[in-house]
Amino acid sequence: MPGLYRDEGIVLKTIKLGEADRIVTIFTRSHGKVRAVAKGVRKTKSRFGGRLEPFTLVDLLIYRGRNLDTITSADIRDHFKGVRDDYPSYTCACALAELVEKITEERERAFSTYALLLGGLQTLADGRGDTVVPAFLVKLLSVSGYHPSLSVCAGCGRSGGLGGFSPAMGGAVCRNCWGEDDEAFRLPGDRIALLAKLLVADFGASADPTATVEVTQALRRYAEYHLERPLRSLQLLAT
Ligand SMILES: [Zn+2]
Repeated sequence: MPGLYRDEGIVLKTIKLGEADRIVTIFTRSHGKVRAVAKGVRKTKSRFGGRLEPFTLVDLLIYRGRNLDTITSADIRDHFKGVRDDYPSYTCACALAELVEKITEERERAFSTYALLLGGLQTLADGRGDTVVPAFLVKLLSVSGYHPSLSVCAGCGRSGGLGGFSPAMGGAVCRNCWGEDDEAFRLPGDRIALLAKLLVADFGASADPTATVEVTQALRRYAEYHLERPLRSLQLLAT
């Protein structure tokens, strides 16, 4: 039904529309992922100013149209300055936004995902985001129906001898089961233990930088397999 609604949301991305407008993808607290037009936002004297840049938390008034929604007003609650001022944090925030954009359905409320995104951005803004991408990814996959097995083998259920990762089987695998999946890859036991820790720990945990990259890329391959699409911003974090 057409009509006005209020919500708060985090801007995930914006794309140009015509001469002066943008289509803004926002992850809202109560309405899930919403795509809405911001009219005149690219004009120098736009009433929106910089309020609809990615990773901004805004209070919104939105008009629900028959096709696309239209943003009527936007007021900033937080612009996560620390994310914008630091390039590594910014690239991590891009990865978080891409994941949420690709894993969620439009207009489907997902409050745990919203809380995770808010927590992840805050951790990045506070400069404590060294492991935030794999922590966010493993938690997000878990709450989105793709919970990876990390304490027992996803193939046979045994708890010892984990040393590989199989996206198809659903997580960590033992050395026996590893050979049964051509796409499974090596992931040492201490890396699997790190993933299990990041799944349950609060954001901001510290870890060896090499291990962090390795577990991030293992989760990327797992997520790409299940979402059936590439996650480009995560590929960029490989180096
Ligand atoms: Zn096994």
